[in-house]
Amino acid sequence: MDFELSAEHRSLMAKVDAFVQDRLIPLEQDPQSFDDHENVREDLLQTLRAEVKAMGLFSPQLPKERGGLGLTPVGQALLYERMNRSIFGPVCFNCAAPDDGNMTVLSKVATQAQQDKWLDPIADGRVRSAFVMTEPHPGGGSDPGMIRTRAEKKGGRWIVHGQKWFITGAGVASHFILIAKTGEGAKDGLTAFAFHRDDPGWEIVRRIPIMGPEEHGGHCELKFDGLEIPDEHRLMGVGQGLKLTQIRLGLARLTHCMRWLGLAQRCMEIAGRYVSEREGFGIKLADRESVQMQLGRVAMAIDTGRLLTMRAAWRLTQGQKARPDISMAKIQVADTLHLAADTAIQLCGARGYSKDTILEWIYRYARQARLVDGASEVHQMVISRAYREQGRGFFAWGPGSD
Ligand SMILES: Cc1cc2nc3c(=O)[nH]c(=O)nc-3n(C[C@H](O)[C@H](O)[C@H](O)COP(=O)(O)OP(=O)(O)OC[C@H]3O[C@@H](n4cnc5c(N)ncnc54)[C@H](O)[C@@H]3O)c2cc1C
Repeated sequence: MDFELSAEHRSLMAKVDAFVQDRLIPLEQDPQSFDDHENVREDLLQTLRAEVKAMGLFSPQLPKERGGLGLTPVGQALLYERMNRSIFGPVCFNCAAPDDGNMTVLSKVATQAQQDKWLDPIADGRVRSAFVMTEPHPGGGSDPGMIRTRAEKKGGRWIVHGQKWFITGAGVASHFILIAKTGEGAKDGLTAFAFHRDDPGWEIVRRIPIMGPEEHGGHCELKFDGLEIPDEHRLMGVGQGLKLTQIRLGLARLTHCMRWLGLAQRCMEIAGRYVSEREGFGIKLADRESVQMQLGRVAMAIDTGRLLTMRAAWRLTQGQKARPDISMAKIQVADTLHLAADTAIQLCGARGYSKDTILEWIYRYARQARLVDGASEVHQMVISRAYREQGRGFFAWGPGSD
């Protein structure tokens, strides 16, 4: 076990820390920094992204030949947590969902020509993207085998009909990755495609109102009524849509955990400051054992999540799949984000419930964590399946070890 960080990682973390602390956190206090959907205002975002680019930290997750820093999942875990100390952080570094996961999967599975066309404009921040998979009943949600949106091949083109919903970012996205049914069979009945927002034959039916703050472009319902996609825009082979999804969602789920750990730590910071200043019944709140126990419980939950996240990131960096590891991290960190926001609001009293701090923003946002990229129950199913398959081997430290 070696928890020592490289000098390169430490230097990158210090740069991210300084930008978040000096530039982003002060902006969170100003209502003028926000758009109508409670995210960072678009023109301000462009200014901030230019500053991040000037520091050489934009899209750091991408390989160096695509303009990134070639961060491994371990490097991502170290930096994303720091970025999301601010609610504005990840999107300024181009490390927010869904662009983050879309760029990563394109860099892994798309051909060079496809990467030039679909990846590079997202990587340099010229366009946004969306991942189009979930469908309303009776279509596919937790179970991708139920996907009904169909792509049928006619000559050299695929014709798409169907419906999708909760597609994050669709309102501002130009590049879309679509998962559609092209055959029968749960494993090889799906295929992935890229399409552009200007392609005819599809529309955004509505932007779905949600309980929390929204990513840019919201969460939209889409209707496909004859969208034509040239075969050269198919990603991976026919029938490999589920494989692409697994490649994308594995790391994407973990990057959610990395970011949420930063948000959870920020909740503790805000609550910690309040209880060390506020007095009641003759003593500081921070000096009460019951308050200390609440803070201790959250700190332990966060660190448990960090260890699970880092082990999964390490396994991915070693080239392992780490599926149950990612599921464990996802459940733990989603619960922890909620616990941290809830505890911090409680400890800050009425102020915690106000909009004077970002705690209520994080609290409303946190509720989606147990649903997006797989409901917690589905991740429990994944863990249980791996345990039943591997028995005691489930607890091995690595391949070939005890
Ligand atoms: C804010 C937000 C953003 C999203 N962004 C995107 C996006 O960009 N692209 C995209 O394609 N999708 C997106 N989604 C959809 C998300 O991935 C799905 O909501 C998720 O996969 C669950 O699918 P579902 O909503 O259809 O739930 P269902 O499949 O209908 O499940 C409902 C509930 O049933 C329970 N359940 C389901 N299966 C099991 C099981 N096997 N065992 C026990 N209990 C179970 C769980 O409690 C689950 O929450 C987003 C969702 C939200 C809320």
